[in-house]
Amino acid sequence: MSAQGILILFLVFFFLKLGWGTALSLLNLGHVRARGARVPPAFAGVVDEVTFTRSVSYTLTRGRFAILAEGFTSAATLAVILAGLFGVIDDAVRHLSIGSYFQGILVIGVISVLFWIVSLPFSLYSTFAIEARFGFNRTTPALFAVDTLKGFAIAAVIGIPVLLVLFWFMDRTGGYWWLWAFGAMTLFQIVMSILAPLVIAPLFNKFTPLPDGELRDAILALAERLKFRTRGIFVADSSKRSGHSNAYFTGLGRAKRIVLFDTLVGTHTKEEILSVLAHEIGHEKRNHVKKGIVLSVVLSLAGFWVMSLLVGYLPLYEAFGFHRVSYAAILVLVAFCSGPFVFFLQPLFSLWSRKHEYEADRFAVEAVGSARGMKEALLRLSRHNLSNLTPHPLYSFFYYSHPTLAERIAALDEAERALATR
Ligand SMILES: [Zn+2]
Repeated sequence: MSAQGILILFLVFFFLKLGWGTALSLLNLGHVRARGARVPPAFAGVVDEVTFTRSVSYTLTRGRFAILAEGFTSAATLAVILAGLFGVIDDAVRHLSIGSYFQGILVIGVISVLFWIVSLPFSLYSTFAIEARFGFNRTTPALFAVDTLKGFAIAAVIGIPVLLVLFWFMDRTGGYWWLWAFGAMTLFQIVMSILAPLVIAPLFNKFTPLPDGELRDAILALAERLKFRTRGIFVADSSKRSGHSNAYFTGLGRAKRIVLFDTLVGTHTKEEILSVLAHEIGHEKRNHVKKGIVLSVVLSLAGFWVMSLLVGYLPLYEAFGFHRVSYAAILVLVAFCSGPFVFFLQPLFSLWSRKHEYEADRFAVEAVGSARGMKEALLRLSRHNLSNLTPHPLYSFFYYSHPTLAERIAALDEAERALATR
């Protein structure tokens, strides 16, 4: 296939993604607006009028802004590609006498910063205008700047050695470099999943052990009963950035750290927190975490294999404005130009994830003995986060990693009935 043919193929997928994505968003916003006048019957009595109206307005505001942001960043990406900017940057760096590996790192760095600059106004507006207007934002401009600088520092400290290793494998290990590189990257991800919670997360948040008391005892008893080994329960000071709340586990292997957002601890009842944790433990006990790791390993292997087929093919590079074959350029293409080709796999991942969410909810009902805690936690989270209560079914089918609130509550009730008849 010629460079021109590849570019045309890319443009077809690019506009299909943009068109389909925008159409879905508009469909969703229309659906929400049409149902925005009063609380849907399914939520009568559990979501009040004021909260519902605010959730509609939050969904519409964010949705419209996302369409605008997507349009703008798409136009910028297209401009960069069609203007041949990738090639201009690559050619400029080529003449620096810093060795080919560092040239590659510079090319990737400059292009990454370029795309970051394009997205910056949108993340600023989202944080300081939209999130602030709805009372979620607690990030100060100073914290935003510090977070950004830390992010850059971490990207450099981790990214540069990783790229050096990757380039070396691509360069020195012959025809099966992609297997070697895949092995090295998999090893790196394992090491990172152990180190990240201990080294990187504390750079952004303070983690304090949950103080002794009723809640801690109840969580430990639940973990014990479910044979879930934990290496401690921590509260993260996430409220310094945002009012949104959550809970998660970190760590690899048999003992994990339980992390609760301070916003969760502050606003939920003990029963609700236990249900949320039982749900998370359900992901572990039903092997969702393991399956997720297997999937990402398989996808990464496939990705390296595809890269090995394409890496020497000059027309591919020329299609996107590069003038030569290089390791850095193929990584740039994977990072910034592969989106339209993988976009249409999204519903498969969403479907897979939703199946796991149903299973984890069911696990939580069985573990706690009732659906009440989980339902109340979800309703409270939903009210608190102003979640969209009426997404368009096609939109939620395509994008949602979790079933909609109405779907989850119906499934929780069913799980409770099943438990009662056992
Ligand atoms: Zn879940």
